[in-house]
Amino acid sequence: MGHATMEDALPETDGLLTAEPGVVLASYAADCAVLFFFDPEQRWIGLAHAGWRGAVLGMGALMVESLVQRGCRREDLCVAVSPAIGFCCYEVGEEVVAAVDSRLHRQVFRTERGKVYFNFSHFLCLQLTDAGISKNRLFKSCYCTSCRRDMFYSYRAAGGRTGRMAGVIALLW
Ligand SMILES: [Zn+2]
Repeated sequence: MGHATMEDALPETDGLLTAEPGVVLASYAADCAVLFFFDPEQRWIGLAHAGWRGAVLGMGALMVESLVQRGCRREDLCVAVSPAIGFCCYEVGEEVVAAVDSRLHRQVFRTERGKVYFNFSHFLCLQLTDAGISKNRLFKSCYCTSCRRDMFYSYRAAGGRTGRMAGVIALLW
């Protein structure tokens, strides 16, 4: 469902989980991040889409909790953060700064010539380690989708009219 058109995409859904081999989970993004979850012990996988709003609402931690409820142990979970718009390019407004926990501001924002930039991928990683994901099981892409338009679609860099990247995960057996 939802792989070819928006019409049959699962509505209002930012997170998917399965333990069923052969079921392919996919999510589209351009500048936002896709989070991939894998528990090699209990053999669960998960996929989540996170823009800044979803990230502030704790999308990563919600996925971790949903997997723990299904019998996964936090220390077993592997999580990968897809390429997303980088600290170099992600200029944000006051609404983003206001929404992020002020204790994290020094770690995730920088100001340059009066503009505020957000280290979105790092913010996602901080939330995931807070939720119990070990650092050696957390993988983050260093590519910025806005800088590397030769490789990625960037919603911002293209002024809103652009394609999307698909994040895909499946258990093969
Ligand atoms: Zn950049």
